[in-house]
Amino acid sequence: MSYWPRRKTLQVAVDGVLIGSENPLVIQSMTDTDTADVKATVQQVKELVVAGSEIVRITVNNEEAAKSVADIKARLIDDGIAVPLVGDFHYNGHLLLDQYPTCATALSKYRINPGNVGSKHRDTNFQKIIEIAVNNNIPVRIGVNWGSLDQRLLARAMDRNANRSEPKNSEDVVIDTMVESALRSAELAEEIGLSNDMIVLSAKVSAAPELVGVYQKLAASCQYPLHLGLTEAGLGLKGIISTSAAVSPLLIQGIGDTLRVSLTPLPQGTRTEEVLVARQILQSLQIRSFEPQVTSCPGCGRTSSTLFQEMALEIQDYIRENMPFWGRKYPGVEEMTVAVMGCVVNGPGESKHANLGISLPGNTEDPKAPVYVNGKHHSTLTGVELVNDFKQIIETYIMTTYKEMSG
Ligand code: SF4
Repeated sequence: MSYWPRRKTLQVAVDGVLIGSENPLVIQSMTDTDTADVKATVQQVKELVVAGSEIVRITVNNEEAAKSVADIKARLIDDGIAVPLVGDFHYNGHLLLDQYPTCATALSKYRINPGNVGSKHRDTNFQKIIEIAVNNNIPVRIGVNWGSLDQRLLARAMDRNANRSEPKNSEDVVIDTMVESALRSAELAEEIGLSNDMIVLSAKVSAAPELVGVYQKLAASCQYPLHLGLTEAGLGLKGIISTSAAVSPLLIQGIGDTLRVSLTPLPQGTRTEEVLVARQILQSLQIRSFEPQVTSCPGCGRTSSTLFQEMALEIQDYIRENMPFWGRKYPGVEEMTVAVMGCVVNGPGESKHANLGISLPGNTEDPKAPVYVNGKHHSTLTGVELVNDFKQIIETYIMTTYKEMSG
């Protein structure tokens, strides 16, 4: 199910996970453990996968990390986790991939940043990485970042711009150079021997307007699948909202084939938050469905009771707790919608739009809660068992509406 037509792209296979227009938009994440700490990295990869990450990137920044990659992969497979691992390389990727062949083959994709493959031997280093990718049949993400843009290209672009009769502003020159850097690197990779269906591009910036601009240009200039994300989105609410604001205009234009949300975890926070945010962005835009959505009103002076707030939360928790079982047994349940509303003003109307809805009584209404199923009045609930009764209606609806898988 995707509400928005996707841009047509090539298809890239990352160890069984397909990235490209016809395939579900893939959710990625990245660990923040020291890759040399095998135990901690395996644990975090598992957590990210359980949260819904379909590809996980790990940093490969030194020899100890490179030596650990095959062990991490083997332990994950032993524990039944077959998630593709992406190696994130900067500066020394050509050396590490060459010196540690078990690292090169254990990874399912390499991420390289053309601005960070060295300065003096930039092209030779880039060539070395691509040759290893070709020899091992491993796809590559060419990931440009405005914080580490190829300074040689940027300097040339700035010079050219300065000589124009009407120079562009410097942000536009940076955006153009990011696109140029990504496309040139992809062209070079193809010349070295990497086939075009082994390349994913990204061009990340940390500001929403520029992100929209750079990805629109990139999308219009190539058929490679695009890895989407706002880099360095920041902490908490700011990071979540900035990312949503930046990627949503692109997603509704069909741009983006895999998404990573780059949140800074709060001190006591969890890394898995970035996966949950990515899933919610995709589900809110009706690009993919992961779990039933609970619609609830904000509440107002018409309801002094906190019942509807507590009920909305309890119903959401109830659905989340049961989804591992329901999702396996009743395919399609992830598209179900449930409304929990505070009073008669919008309650019945919103409830009728959902598969299941309950309109709780406002502070001047009779203490009765009409329930709607598929837009029709189903029953009216009252009393202390109201929440449990509604849960029972949800469960019965799921069992009778979605086809039960055998086994
Ligand atoms: S549905 Fe009722 S309680 Fe909820 S916000 Fe609207 S008027 Fe207020």
